Amino acid sequence: MRTLIVEDDPVQRRLLQASLVRAGYEVVEAVDGEFAWNLLQNERISLVITDWMMPNLNGLELIHCIRGANFPNYTYIILVTAKDRKEDIVMGLEAGADDYLTKPFDPAEMRARVAIGKRILELEQRLRDSLQQLRMMATYDSLTGLLNRRAIYEQAQVELERACREGTSISLIMLDIDHFKGVNDNYGHLIGDRALRHVADTIRKNKRSYDWAGRWGGEEFLLVLPGTGLEEASFVAERVRKSVEEAMFPLSNVRSLELHVSLGVSSVDRYDRFPGVGTLLQDADDALYCAKRSGRNQVCLAVRPSLVAHDGTSLEPAALNEPDRVY
Ligand code: GH3
Ligand code: MG
Ligand code: MG
Ligand code: MG
Repeated sequence: MRTLIVEDDPVQRRLLQASLVRAGYEVVEAVDGEFAWNLLQNERISLVITDWMMPNLNGLELIHCIRGANFPNYTYIILVTAKDRKEDIVMGLEAGADDYLTKPFDPAEMRARVAIGKRILELEQRLRDSLQQLRMMATYDSLTGLLNRRAIYEQAQVELERACREGTSISLIMLDIDHFKGVNDNYGHLIGDRALRHVADTIRKNKRSYDWAGRWGGEEFLLVLPGTGLEEASFVAERVRKSVEEAMFPLSNVRSLELHVSLGVSSVDRYDRFPGVGTLLQDADDALYCAKRSGRNQVCLAVRPSLVAHDGTSLEPAALNEPDRVY
């Protein structure tokens, strides 16, 4: 834990520094508030012990700067002051100090107060770690490590809004493993789980870095392809299909299984009037079922004709309800 001592009196600064270093703290020093503020903006410092009366920026002004900066981690501040009137102490605490000591102070008491600060900072870190873990659990699918259904849906929404704002295209690919029930029935649920991870890994390897992949549910996956029109998306889908087919899933050292997937692609390009994410998902799902009906292990496209023609004239949406099926 890095501790910053802000004190314009060199003797007092040196005494405090020696006392804290002896107690095992990593100590940084600043000769006034301005110097301290520069350090704090560039280095990660968790605990600040600051004098009140200093040239340039005084202790209270420094505290205002720290609290106003909203650093990602909490900064614990101990204010040291020769002012010992109640009103001054209240003013220091109200400005944002967590604790205070009046001069002259006992070094052992200061070390005890710093230890309290350290405990509070450690608690804050533990809380932060737990929150991070919860966020991970709320965002990622625990079996495959891909985004979970809610997170990939939100990502699809965000990317669709961005595409709409920037006038670019976007595509979705809905993927479903073929006859997956048979994998569970023939080899058991644990092997089924491993097969799901295997397919998820193949998807991850074959998507581009700026595409999003998530587990939509069961043995279904969703890919969100920002800035991608239907034709390009169909190439991505075909590449994923082929890779799953070729990446044999090992059942044991000597046996492996060829898995197949069906994929449905939907798309809006920059000439379309942008539909909601629900419509785009429905289109991808319709295309996926078209792929299933047409014999599985293939890609099907939902072609949504442009709602606005290239010359800028608007087309009637009523004529454009049912997506055409290409392959
Ligand atoms: P289709 O080609 O029509 O998609 O056939 P399918 O057998 O893949 O489809 P169906 O919907 O009949 O079965 C899906 C199976 O996926 C049934 C279900 O038990 C299995 N499944 C869903 N989630 C999991 C999971 O987390 N682990 C395992 N092992 N199996 C799962
Ligand atoms: Mg001073
Ligand atoms: Mg299936
Ligand atoms: Mg399914």
